[in-house]
Formats: sequence, structure tokens, C-alpha cells
Amino acid sequence: MAFKRIVLKLSGEALAGSAKTGIDNEVIKSIAKRVKTVTEMGVEVGIVVGGGNFWRGRDSLNIQRATSDYMGMLGTVMNALALQDALEKMDVLTRVQTSIEMRAVAEPYIRRRAIRQLEKKMVVIFAAGTGNPYFSTDTTAALRAAEINAEAILLAKKGVDGIYDSDPKQNKDAKKFEKLSYLDILSKNLKIMDATATSLCMDNNIPLVVFGIDDPDNIIRVIEGEKIGTIVKED
Ligand code: UDP
Repeated sequence: MAFKRIVLKLSGEALAGSAKTGIDNEVIKSIAKRVKTVTEMGVEVGIVVGGGNFWRGRDSLNIQRATSDYMGMLGTVMNALALQDALEKMDVLTRVQTSIEMRAVAEPYIRRRAIRQLEKKMVVIFAAGTGNPYFSTDTTAALRAAEINAEAILLAKKGVDGIYDSDPKQNKDAKKFEKLSYLDILSKNLKIMDATATSLCMDNNIPLVVFGIDDPDNIIRVIEGEKIGTIVKED
């Protein structure tokens, strides 16, 4: 097994199925099942959920950006609750912690409590992003991974299975990278995460595995150390 503690980043789209919006029950079940397997392998799993299946702050033209971003963060909470429900139905102990307090719905994020829960082999879902507008849930994944001392971030991508030198959907000759450094991502301007998330990972030396979630078994393959997708770390 390659990792003891990880942060799995699931974009909102990864939970949406073919509709691309909302939550697809079968898709969320299939992901929850693999998360269960991974916890049974003894891996401590923190999950950062995105919210793009409901709302993306920057896409709204009519709503003030910060307000729109708060709406996006609320979207991530819906995904977190749905994922918690799917995991609990499979008897996986799961806690949701939110960066914006909403105590009737979930626990507030407390770093030490999250670590304690991970040690108790609970899955901890980090919702509401960083709690700040102008950030992304990729940055949240980098931040939480640093805070909880995760050995790696598993960045699950929908529709693509790693990092390419150009968009593989538009260029059939696009070449996939097996390994990259964070500096490569920044200097080649590769659109895999925003620059804030990339530099946070770089500054804190957090390895990142970018892989495709269209086959959810890939989560298990990455944990087992199979070389799929693209690995990003300093040389
Ligand atoms: N968001 C934010 N601050 C954060 C994390 C998220 O303002 O720390 C907002 C932002 O508007 C973003 C939305 O929440 O567009 C959904 O998150 P994201 O786009 O990262 O989700 P994903 O693309 O992974 O589904």
C-alpha cells in the first residue's frame, strides 16, 4: 500500500454523472464503495468535495463575486451530506466538517478534531471549501492536506485520466505526462489546478496524483501504488 493518510479531492462534476449537474445516486454509491474499500485497507481518508455541479462562483455575471463564491461553498455542503449519507449506508463512520459554521448540519472544522477522527478510522469530509471567497476547493485540498499531514492528494478528474501537454479532448496528439514537478505545472501553465493550489502544494511538498474517476476502481489502484495518471512531486 502506497499511502497511510490521504486527501481525496472529488470535484462536484465527479458526483454528477452524465447530467453534469446535481447528484447522481449510482455514481455517488460507486465512489462511496471504493472509499469504503480503501478505509478497510487501513488508509485514513479525508475528502474535499467541490461544488461545481451546483454552482461556480466565477461563472455568475449578475451576482457579486464574493456572494457568488459563498453560494458555491454552500453547494459543496450539499455534496458532502450526500456523500456522508452514501458512506453511512455502507456502515462507514463518516464526519462532515464545514469551514463555515452551520452547527445544525455538521461540525465546524477543527483541525485537531479532524486528525483524531482520522486516527479513529473515520472518513472526514471537508465541506464549504476554505470558508473564503476567491479560493477553490483544489486550494482547500492543498490546505487540508498540509494541515492534517496527508502523504498525498488524490485529485480525481472526470473525463480525463491525468495531466496532458494540451487538452486531449481538443488535440488527439496530446501527450500525457507520467511525472511532473510543481514548477513544471506553473511554468508550462498546465491547467490542472489553479495557481494558488499549485503553489501551496509546492511550498509544502505535498505529492499529488491526478487520475481519472470515470472508472472509480482507479481510487483503489492509486492507493495500491499502481502507476496510473500523473504524479506531481518535487524531483
Ligand atoms: N469556493 C470558494 N472558496 C473556497 C472553495 C470554493 O469561494 O475555498 C466556491 C467557488 O465559488 C467555487 C465553488 O465554491 O467556484 C465550487 O468549488 P469548486 O469550483 O472548487 O468546485 P469543483 O470545480 O471542484 O466542483
